[in-house]
Amino acid sequence: MARSMTVNPSTQYVMTINGEATLSPQTIEVVNPANGAAFAEAPDCSSAQLDAAVEAARAAFPAWRDTSIDERAALLVRMGDALEEHVDELTALFTAEQGRPLAAARMEVSGAAQWLKAASQLRPSTKVAEDSDEQYVETRYVPLGVVCAIAPWNFPVTLAVVKIAPALLAGNTMVLKPSPYTPLCTLRLGEIFARVLPPGVLNVVSGGDALGPMMTAHPGFAKISFTGSTATGKLVMENAARDLKKVTLELGGNDAAVVLPDVDVDQVAQQIFTGAFFNSAQICVATKRLYVHESVYEALRDRLLDIAKSTVVGDGSEPGTHLGPIQNRRQYERVMGLLDDAQDTGLVLLQGANVPSGDGYFVPVTIVDNPPETSRVVREEAFGPILPMLKFTDIEDVLDRANNSEYGLAGAVWSDDTEAALAIARRMETGTVWINQNLKVRPDTPFGGHKQSGVGVEYGVEGLLEFMAPQSILVARRG
Ligand code: NAD
Repeated sequence: MARSMTVNPSTQYVMTINGEATLSPQTIEVVNPANGAAFAEAPDCSSAQLDAAVEAARAAFPAWRDTSIDERAALLVRMGDALEEHVDELTALFTAEQGRPLAAARMEVSGAAQWLKAASQLRPSTKVAEDSDEQYVETRYVPLGVVCAIAPWNFPVTLAVVKIAPALLAGNTMVLKPSPYTPLCTLRLGEIFARVLPPGVLNVVSGGDALGPMMTAHPGFAKISFTGSTATGKLVMENAARDLKKVTLELGGNDAAVVLPDVDVDQVAQQIFTGAFFNSAQICVATKRLYVHESVYEALRDRLLDIAKSTVVGDGSEPGTHLGPIQNRRQYERVMGLLDDAQDTGLVLLQGANVPSGDGYFVPVTIVDNPPETSRVVREEAFGPILPMLKFTDIEDVLDRANNSEYGLAGAVWSDDTEAALAIARRMETGTVWINQNLKVRPDTPFGGHKQSGVGVEYGVEGLLEFMAPQSILVARRG
């Protein structure tokens, strides 16, 4: 269980450039979304400081590349150990900047330490195509150079670590940028990992809206690993095209879950609720369209509403809070706009417990009762606690509706009949499908979006190889 913890208001947050703690003349304010008040400042990286970070990473690359993968893996394990020593501090900081309740914040921080260790075990394989008297032909994988990593605000620690681990394991060096809304934990990661890594291998910079485009346009990067919205992903790809940087893009989703008539509603309701609303629904792979067979629709809707009514939405640093605020004002206004649109267009909104008044970015847990397929709340990624529940009668029809999206990130099927669920899962146009569970990702299993949910994958050997290039060596043998 999370203990009561506080953030030290006098802490100075620094960037890590070439292993050095680095301040900037300009700063950005960091706001606690539970009360709308700025509580800390982060450096606003200048263009000269970005150049210095890229140069440090470039200079560190040859020696880092030439270490063995086992040495690099051992350092990832030490980074995991170092992170574990800071779980209490980072949990409190996480809740203050991101809003998530302490227990769930702690899960993310300690989970990230475990991820570093698990991901350290991945290895690329070398393939030998011929080993004869005439020729020896092998294809092996080599690192790319300096990686630009850009992360969003919804899982700031996890989504940084899942880039750091494979990029460094592969032998690359990195410049990492968190979201301007949640820079603090990531800046602390930079400091913590700098005690383990050679200078320049991992540089962490923070800044305002100008920094992301400045990075993606920087000619010193060989690769961009980006997680964020589909709209921003397209801008990243445009900038990457200028000098053909490689890209991995993990983008938005509008994930459908299909609930078949044979489910035990009482058994699945809590899991479905968590899959839709955990982290106040600010999850790329949250269930965002819930298709329920008409025979169990009312029963599941009523059960989900009961859970919503007993869910405490509030300040994540207070004991007993289940869901925190929306992470930032811009996203809060977007979510409230979707709610207003649903109300104005006459949709039926079923809402959970009241949320605190004041300046926090709180939104009540909301279920939209069988809205039209064409409504905004169904078509758009809400990224907030508004779940459209939709009735279906026919499997072909529900598959068409589930797949009728520009997104293709993940989906879920709920049924007592695993074979029936698998038959549907295999026809879903998404990178991941869960059956009778959701939200689970693994360091050994590739994860990525189909359609406009992304380019490439993260995690697993496949994700590791996105940070590497094949190199084929063909040796003539003379007898
Ligand atoms: P965002 O696209 O606004 O920002 C993501 C990051 O990109 C931030 O660090 C931001 O500062 C930076 N950025 C903004 N404009 C940029 C530009 N022009 N060039 C380069 N970088 C730029 O996304 P967000 O609002 O922080 O995150 C929410 C979105 O992320 C949702 O759509 C969600 O589905 C998606 N997401 C996807 C995954 C996944 O794995 N597929 C995981 C988490 C979140």
